[in-house]
Formats: sequence, structure tokens, C-alpha cells
Amino acid sequence: MTALSEFTLDELTALVEAMGEPKYRAKQLMRHTVAFDSYDEYTDIPKALIEKLKSQYADRAVREKTRVTAADGAVRYLFELTDGDLAEAVFLPHEYGNSVCVSCQVGCAMGCVFCASGYYGLKRNLSAGEILAQALYIARDKKAEGVNKIVMMGSGSPLANYDNTVKFVRLITAKDGLNIGMRSISVSTCGLPDKIERLAADGFTGTLSLSLHAATDAKRKKIMKIAERYTVRELIDSLKRFFERTGRRVVIEYILIGGFNDGDGDAAELKKLLKGLCCHVNLIPLNPVENCDLKPCSKKRAHAFCEKLNALGVSASVRRSMGSDAAGACGQLKNRTAEAQRAKRSDA
Ligand code: SAH
Repeated sequence: MTALSEFTLDELTALVEAMGEPKYRAKQLMRHTVAFDSYDEYTDIPKALIEKLKSQYADRAVREKTRVTAADGAVRYLFELTDGDLAEAVFLPHEYGNSVCVSCQVGCAMGCVFCASGYYGLKRNLSAGEILAQALYIARDKKAEGVNKIVMMGSGSPLANYDNTVKFVRLITAKDGLNIGMRSISVSTCGLPDKIERLAADGFTGTLSLSLHAATDAKRKKIMKIAERYTVRELIDSLKRFFERTGRRVVIEYILIGGFNDGDGDAAELKKLLKGLCCHVNLIPLNPVENCDLKPCSKKRAHAFCEKLNALGVSASVRRSMGSDAAGACGQLKNRTAEAQRAKRSDA
């Protein structure tokens, strides 16, 4: 069932008018959806209208199924969507402001070997309202702390679900929505060059992160299926055009895999590839996942790699990994829950 979080204020206005209601009802409804209220809390809306809405729309696109809280305060939420599918999101508290990481697909088609989200392939896209509902839920749950930043770094590939990603950004930055600044939104992609350029053309001025993870095509092909389709050169060229259009420095995400891409030679290749691109390299020590025999790199090696890049004149830092005691990397909580459900069903 479609939820009310799917609609912009203009769309809600058209909806209430079609139901023969005055325009101001749209603003009231918007306030309720943004507050993640249930229909019981729509106390300023006439009962008859609530009944009409109930028969066609869900008040909430997600409900909490479980959560895991890490020692560092990160909270990983597992949500159930109205059709029973599952989606994960994470609250990440920081001294300089709190982030919410949302998922944009159920599963993922990209099949990166190190990533738990793609392990079962893609089930379906999430709608803009389903992506938004994850943030709305967490904003309500963490009202005291507040949410300042949104990262599209959960399960799924945002640019492969392009229209819903763009609509989600529009909804969450709306003045009458959560009103998050566009600059405080990050979109992460495994790298679809035409979509990267389209995003810039469509007015996105947030941060774009590219999951590069290897500096040569040969190496990237070993860990990312998408590397069969696009070369690293094509990707970097599309990022240059993104920067030209938006003036926004891009982020290069680089997972450090022990003995695979963490050598001095890899740092030199990376330097060569990134020449002329305004970027910052985020080094992420690999989070071990089940069914994958890639090795994490040591903390010492990660910092040595970072220093090597800095010495070569590349801006880089090692990302502090948060919440890894809360069911590790993206997709793992969902996979474990789904596996436990399947095991329970086959027991019965
Ligand atoms: N689908 C998006 C977001 C993925 S999650 C994308 O492709 O960019 C955010 C980052 O975590 C990505 O760079 C992703 O490649 C990385 N990641 C995935 N699995 C990981 C793991 N096991 N350890 C460390 N980083 C991982």
C-alpha cells in the first residue's frame, strides 16, 4: 500500500482537493507524515477524511522489526515495509552532528563480492516514500538528539533507482519536510557514469561518493561486477564533469583489502588515476562479511597507505568505522534475520 510519505506538498494538495477537502488540509497532513504520526495522532483531521485516507494509503511506510545498538551509540534499525520486505537503516551519532544512513533497494543487483547487501541479488526498488520513511522514523525516535545529515549508503544502488533517489532528495530537503540542507546529503554509487552526470544536470549539489575500491580495471573486475561495464577512466571523467557542473568536491571510497589493494604500488596507481580530480579519498578498512574470504587490512597498514597517499599529494583519511558491533556492514542484519526466518519456516 502506498504511504502518505510518498507525496510532496503539491501532490498532497491535489489529493485533498480531489477528495473535496480544503487546501489547508494538505499542510496538516504533511506535518503528520513528517512527524511520522500514526492515523490515531491525526487529531486535527476530520474522522471521515481519515477513514477515506486509510482505505487507500498507509500512514507509515515502515515499522520497526528489530534494532541493535552499538557501544558507540550507533543504532542499526531493521524495518519491515508494508509488503513484508525488509530494509536496514542506521543512526550514527557524531560530535559534529548526527547522520542517518538509509537503504534504497531491497537487496542489490551489483554483486560486489565484499558486500552483504547484494548477496541475494536485487528484489525490488524502494519508492521515494519508503526511503524517506526510514529517515522520518529515526528522526522521531532520536528527536532529542536530532538528525543533521543523510547518507544514501545503505543497501542498494541509489543511481540504479534514479527517479526515486531524486524524488527522495526533493522530499527530504523540502522546507515543509525534514528540511535537511542539500549540502548535508551524500549519495554513494558503485559508478554509473551517465547517471552521475544526470544527477548534476538535475540540480543535485550534495556530496557524491564513488565506491572505487581499486585503481585499475583489472583489479576492480576481481571485486566488482560493474567494472565489466565501465572503466575507471570513464568513471573519473564523469566525476570531473560532475565537479565542473556543481563545484562540489567528490569523495572516493576505497575499501582496504589486506594484500589486495593496500600496497604502495596501489597508492601510486590511485594517485595517477585521480590526477586533476577535486576529491577526497575515504579509506575504509574492510568489514569482514560472511561468505567472502577477502581479508581486512591491519590498522597500521591502513594508516601507512593513507600517509603514502598524502605524501603523493592526495587528500585522504581513514574512516572511523562505527557500529560494527551492531551487525557489521550494511545488509548483514537483514540477511541474518531473513536467514533465521527461513530456518524457522523450514523447521515448522
Ligand atoms: N550501494 C552504494 C552504497 C554502499 S555502502 C554504493 O555502491 O556506493 C557504502 C560503502 O561501503 C560503499 O563504498 C561500499 O562499497 C562499502 N562497503 C560495502 N561492503 C563493505 C564491507 N564489507 N566493508 C567495508 N565497506 C563496505
